[in-house]
Parts: sequence; structure tokens; C-alpha cells
Amino acid sequence: MNVYAIGMRTRFREITVREGILLHGEAGWGEFCPFADYSDTESAPWLASALEASERGWPSPVRDRVEINATVPIVDPERAYELVKDSGCRTAKVKVADKRATLAEDCARVEAVRDALGPSGAIRVDANAAWDVETALRAIADLDKAAGGLEYVEQPCVTIEELAAVRRRAGVRIAADESIRRAEDPLKVAVAGAADIAVLKVAPLGGVRRALEVAEACGLPCVVSSAVETSVGLAAGLALAGALPELDYACGLGTLSLLNEDVSTSSLSPVDGYLPVPARAPEPDLYGYVAADADTRARWLDRLSRVRAHLR
Ligand SMILES: [Mg+2]
Repeated sequence: MNVYAIGMRTRFREITVREGILLHGEAGWGEFCPFADYSDTESAPWLASALEASERGWPSPVRDRVEINATVPIVDPERAYELVKDSGCRTAKVKVADKRATLAEDCARVEAVRDALGPSGAIRVDANAAWDVETALRAIADLDKAAGGLEYVEQPCVTIEELAAVRRRAGVRIAADESIRRAEDPLKVAVAGAADIAVLKVAPLGGVRRALEVAEACGLPCVVSSAVETSVGLAAGLALAGALPELDYACGLGTLSLLNEDVSTSSLSPVDGYLPVPARAPEPDLYGYVAADADTRARWLDRLSRVRAHLR
């Protein structure tokens, strides 16, 4: 059982070290890496997803490569420009509404990203549910102007009702991310008219097959995003993106650049803005360089056995 700990290049949603377990089974490798504050119950789908990858394998893909967006965390405009230029991507997702940045700073970052992408690139922003409706409407107007037009705004507010209200009034497309996992029934998001796009993450949804069911149930165009995994977990995201019947938007699976290191020499870093759809996760042949210390390892093995008890 391989427990890893990898430093983050840029702090991302309060995390500075990414940890998890790489599981090996008959079908290959899977990654179990729920964030530290997730309960054992919430972590159960993450384990189901890792076990699907390692023991069962994924459904056949319908495409062999997936367009990827660059991910821009809370960084200064110069760094944002470099990140997007270096990525080779034609779409960028910019984190906004973080406590560490003002709206003016968010707008400056978005302007730098537009400079890097040129007029034909697409810019989406992710607020991670930080705004109320009125704040969202004001911020989106400014960000839309700074971007010269936004592709969409991801999860501007917490509730489905708020998303629907922003969607009615803001005049930009809205993507639901956290709502797709929190809603008891993803259909609610579509029925409430709360979103134009659904963001799917394999691990919190319980695997590629379960995520395909969610995509079908909500009936919206989908974007597949990562949970900032190593290449082993990213492969599962690519398997989902590869298997979705329709895929009209770039996916948020180019997040390896947020980690200091990876577990494999067959790293899943985008080339010219695309990643291949792999048949299975890459071998974690660099695991030895990122193995966690004894305490971290013990903590994760204990977590794994507790979460196992929550699997149906
Ligand atoms: Mg998001």
C-alpha cells in the first residue's frame, strides 16, 4: 500500500501538502485521496472510485484525447500570464473570490489571463460558492468586463436557489460544481434551472460509472475536473472525460502543475492543451520519491480501514 505526501506549488483551497494512498489491484492502480476534512462517510465514494480503477477498470472511451484548461490559482497577474502561456491551453479557469484577493485583484488576474490567451481563448472563473446573490452579480459584471467575456462562472453561490437567481440575472452561463455533489439528486440542479453546465469529479461521485450516471441524470453539458490528484487519480478523470457521450468544453484535468512532484514518469501533463485518454492509470514508478513518513502512513492506513466499513 503506497501512501504519498506531495507539497503543493501554490496553496490551493487551504491545502499545502497533498496526501493519499495508491491502491493496486487486478485492473491496475487507483488513488484514494479525500481531503483531510472529509468524514469517513463522505470519503466512501472516493474509495469506491479507487477500487473501480484498481479492481474493475473503466468503460471503453469514445474519444482518445481530451482538451484541457489551464488552472490559475490566486497568484499575481505576471504569474497568471506565465502559467497560461506555459500551459499551451486555449481555455483557462481562474480562481476568484478567495479571501486572499480583492475583486480588483481578481479582475487584474483575469485581464492578464486574457492577454496570455489572446482574443480566441476562453476564460471561466470559479468562485467556490463564496458569494451571495447580490455580490455575485456585481463581481460577475466586473469579471466579465475584465475577461472581455466569460465562458462561464463556476459555483458562484452555495445553494441551488441562489445559482438559479444569479443565472436568471447575470447574463452569463453558470456551472454547478459543489452543488452536483451536495444535492441529493443531481436532477434538482437541472430542474431548478440553476446551471448550464455540470462539473463532474470522479472520486467524490464514486467512480467513472457512477459519474456517467450522474451526467445522464442531470442532462447538462459536462466538464470533468480533478480533485488535484497525482497522475494515477487524473487517469480516472480522463477515463470519464473519454467516455462521456458529449464533451463540448475543455476539462479541468491539467492540475498536475499544482503539485511539486508526481508519482509516475508517465506524467499526465497536457501537451498543446490536450491529454490522452489512458486505458489504465500509469505505473507509480516514482512513488519512492514521494513516500509519506511513518506517522502519515499510519494515519492513512487507519483512515482506509475506517472508510472501507462505509462502503455499501
Ligand atoms: Mg469548482
